[in-house]
Amino acid sequence: SHVLVTGASGFIAVWCCHQLLERGHRVRGTVRSQEKGEYLAALFQRFGDKFSFVIAEDLEKPGVFDEAVKGVDGVLHTASPFHFNIDGDPLGKLIQPAVNGTRSVLRSIKDHGTDVKRVVVTSSFAAILDSTRPVPTAFDEKDWNESSPANVDKLGNKQDGTDAYRASKTLAERAAWDFVEAEKPQWDLATINPPLVLGPLLHQVKSPESLNTSAGMVWKIWHGGFTNDELPGPRGAVVDVRDVAAGHVQALLRADAAGQRFATTSGGLTWQAVCDITHASNSIPQQYKDSTPVGNPGQKVVQHTLDGSKAARVLGIDYYTLHETINDMATSFADYEKRN
Ligand code: NDP
Repeated sequence: SHVLVTGASGFIAVWCCHQLLERGHRVRGTVRSQEKGEYLAALFQRFGDKFSFVIAEDLEKPGVFDEAVKGVDGVLHTASPFHFNIDGDPLGKLIQPAVNGTRSVLRSIKDHGTDVKRVVVTSSFAAILDSTRPVPTAFDEKDWNESSPANVDKLGNKQDGTDAYRASKTLAERAAWDFVEAEKPQWDLATINPPLVLGPLLHQVKSPESLNTSAGMVWKIWHGGFTNDELPGPRGAVVDVRDVAAGHVQALLRADAAGQRFATTSGGLTWQAVCDITHASNSIPQQYKDSTPVGNPGQKVVQHTLDGSKAARVLGIDYYTLHETINDMATSFADYEKRN
């Protein structure tokens, strides 16, 4: 089959492309610049002409995906801003690109993607987790984040970056389900809803400062960005980037994924646990250990949880443990530092 992956240059998307190519599928990626496309073409050289890229610069521009969707039979829509730098403009910086981008892709697929049978949208735990619920709440796919979208209207430009990001993901996912209900397209929809995604890097990282948001947090721990006193408290849940990619691939291929949301997680995450794994590991470089706070080893916190068992059952995901994720991430970072 031939699959379109939007935002192919991203941390998660490159792994999706990689796994699709390994399984023998053809992949067309959308990127924002020629340079990012060429990085991917070089990375995937061994797959010959099975990988190609097209430029789609502005997510919000109507019709920007019209050509890209022609001739593919599946789409993974991953492109969406993931950062918290809203500069007093949550709508312009996060919410509109996420929501309008999703609508724009789906419109192009409906009108021009005549062969498409399945669309998988990368949503998030952010679209499930409602931070106004009592701690600890056990969240799953039945839950929706009601509070962040309400804050868009209530707080306007005063909404903080984290909440605006959560609103962007919730409203974008809602827009996708609403589109399907209103337009009754020839294809069906599934969403993948990961919490914080960690793991090894395949994508182009020009400088540590430009690392994607989630991997950047662990980079910071291993480069002296946290001290014992300021180790941030509860964090939520985590999943390996390779499992997120596998979730996308399986949600694309399996008939019974139609119309479903899939939370993907190996379990809870605290930064303390990442520090503990770092100090106990035999494979993490000493320089990373030296920069990592000790904190309160073994500390347990009470926090919200996410249930990843449906994705394990329906999509066959066998989650990497947090130990494996963190160890492989360290190897990947050390590799990157050797090369740069
Ligand atoms: P990245 O920042 O690495 O990837 C984001 C991708 O979206 C990049 O390809 C980026 O292009 C593209 N993009 C961002 N903003 C725009 C825009 N305005 N117009 C066009 N393209 C844009 O992060 P991730 O791989 O982590 O994120 C991928 C998806 O996964 C997002 O939808 C994110 O919300 C979701 N997600 C991520 C989680 C995580 O912890 N990492 C957790 C849950 C969900 P470019 O490379 O040119 O900047």
